[in-house]
Amino acid sequence: MPVKRPADAGSGASGSAVAPAADPVPAPEPPDGAGETIYLAVALDVPLPGLFDYSHDRPVEPGVRVRVTFGRRAMVGMVWAVREAPGVAADRVRPIDAVLDDLPPMPADWLRLAEFAAHYYHRPLGEVLLPVLPPSLRKPAAYTGARSAGGPVCRADRRPGGSRARKSKEVAQAGPVDPAAGVAVAARLASDQAGDDEGPVLTDAQVRALAGLRDLLAAGAGVALLHGVTGSGKTELYLRLARDVLAAGRQVLLLVPEINLTPQLEQSVRARLGDRLAVIHSRLSEGDRLRAWLRASRGQAEILLGTRLALFTPLPRAGLIVVDEEHDASYKQQDGLRYSARDLAVWRGHDLGIPVVLGSATPSLETWRHAQEGDYRLLSLPERAQAQSLPEIRLVDTRRARLEQGFTPQLLDALESRLTQGGQSLVFINRRGYAPVLRCASCAWVSQCRRCTAHMVLHRLGGRHVLQCHHCGDAMPVPRACPDCGDPDIQPMGRGTQRVEEFLAERFPGARVLRIDADATRLKGSAEALFARAHAGEADILVGTQMVSKGHDFARLGLVGVLNADAMLFSQDFRAPERLFAQLMQVAGRAGRRQGGAQVIVQTDYPEQTVYQALLRHDYARFAAYALEERRELGLPPFSSQALLTAQAVRVRDALDFLEAARARAGALTEAAGVRIHDPVPLRIVRVARVERAQLLFESDGRGALHRLLRALLPGLDELARGGVQHWGIEIDPQEI
Ligand SMILES: [Zn+2]
Ligand SMILES: [Zn+2]
Repeated sequence: MPVKRPADAGSGASGSAVAPAADPVPAPEPPDGAGETIYLAVALDVPLPGLFDYSHDRPVEPGVRVRVTFGRRAMVGMVWAVREAPGVAADRVRPIDAVLDDLPPMPADWLRLAEFAAHYYHRPLGEVLLPVLPPSLRKPAAYTGARSAGGPVCRADRRPGGSRARKSKEVAQAGPVDPAAGVAVAARLASDQAGDDEGPVLTDAQVRALAGLRDLLAAGAGVALLHGVTGSGKTELYLRLARDVLAAGRQVLLLVPEINLTPQLEQSVRARLGDRLAVIHSRLSEGDRLRAWLRASRGQAEILLGTRLALFTPLPRAGLIVVDEEHDASYKQQDGLRYSARDLAVWRGHDLGIPVVLGSATPSLETWRHAQEGDYRLLSLPERAQAQSLPEIRLVDTRRARLEQGFTPQLLDALESRLTQGGQSLVFINRRGYAPVLRCASCAWVSQCRRCTAHMVLHRLGGRHVLQCHHCGDAMPVPRACPDCGDPDIQPMGRGTQRVEEFLAERFPGARVLRIDADATRLKGSAEALFARAHAGEADILVGTQMVSKGHDFARLGLVGVLNADAMLFSQDFRAPERLFAQLMQVAGRAGRRQGGAQVIVQTDYPEQTVYQALLRHDYARFAAYALEERRELGLPPFSSQALLTAQAVRVRDALDFLEAARARAGALTEAAGVRIHDPVPLRIVRVARVERAQLLFESDGRGALHRLLRALLPGLDELARGGVQHWGIEIDPQEI
């Protein structure tokens, strides 16, 4: 679905040596210097390491897409370098099929970013360079053969300010840097210290934080952590800072964790900064995504707002990167190149010599430690911007309570009184479906997935119930009686959002109950519609998963009730308490953003736990100090670096044998010094869709030692992956263990 582009602006518009479109018509007579055989190292998105040799009759610049035949397939690859001689016999090197010159070469700083990501995450270059492009740029059939008139705009990139010496030799022909750019920002700032003429009046804390952010901008580089409680006005500061950057003629990259958050922010940005905005996230149509990508990479869009994949968009005049809710797990890609967009954003800012602002009410402990140690500048917003106090938090001990469908009398009473007052409430339960499992009253039967080591979850679908597996997607009807003993008395155990919704509708007949979770928002546009109804006050009680906890600003929301928080407390994952605390702070933060008197009720069996005690006081610093001390004692991140080797096989034994062999080989390497290599273990949910999964954890106090070992170990692992091993992979800085 190629976007309609202006016709060829004339050959040589980009000044590059790229050949004109040659397919299907034979190439015209080559100009001087052509005709000899040039060898190109081409990156392809195939599960094989290294680059691939192809030939052409003239040089092609790094960062240019080409169409090649790989095996029998036509593929889009990207030229990485011109080689003096091929790595294989010259007569085995195929010519490329076409140079895709609809775009100028990818800019040098973008190539550096991709190279760093490939190196750091131990992936072949082709698995980075191509998957991060908009889909239409990697499909051989989508190429129209038309050269883009936008070419010179993008070519003009060639990085302003402070790009470091990381450039590989191949990418070194980047051209001059522009030292004047940072000066322009400083000049603009000097004339704007007086204050701002639009937007709300800032609190004292906001004024101080903004001054700190502007210092960073004037300095031209560095990372700031903007630590502000929910409702403290972080977004307002992003907008003001962005305006400074725009006024200096530079671009802003604004990353948010969730697609659902883009419409609200997009509205604010447009209202305050105008329409020179592009939005990129994974739910866009291919055409929309390509258009946004082109506008940003040609410098036509001055603000790029997007989810993690927007990080890989070329920005010729980048002047600022903001990562909102920097602690959010959504910044970590969970398949393919398992990168952290937050970490790469920090790297990109450093490489470009531009400031990076990380914002959060509950920063990741990694970021918090950097701020504590002075690597990042810490700017705090301890109060809410609009004078309302933070909501009062109550812990209700469920051990001594008489529960009605999981609700304590205290929570039911609070819901009742909010209803009477005409306020809105939110019941938060991070579990979708009707009930997590179905169980036989007479025997031990439970609704187990046939393909996974997980329970099938009971869902209400239309008027009836079905069983669904949340891991493999398998579904089946609810049996009439127990499949094992024939007892018709099979019961749902526990509860999810649907059951809570049903109960609340019965318990409070006059109340309008609205459920917001992944099931209710599956159809395109349905999330927007549901949130719009919630915002418009068309619901008295919202029932939602973590989907409602982020960023939303519900005007009348005065009560938040939290069910089942303890489920995360004793997880085997050492990051679980950190995530639980962040989630509870975030959901608590939905309450009372417009008016005071808001209340949060957390039901728990363990009110004495540090997570809850710190929550009670809205005290992130206390929680972080405690959690960091624990991590330090145990040698866990951020006091160490980790990598996870994972294996999948039909039989778990094969996966474990492979990991055991990898462990033995790693242990024998000299590079293993200083790296702790744990025992291979099956995953908690070991089998998903009939594939068994296991993992092996590497841990080291220094990042360098870990990466040296992996570099020595990984290239030889394919030969160990025999037998039933279907797939193995390495994940750096894993977030779930
Ligand atoms: Zn039974
Ligand atoms: Zn399953």
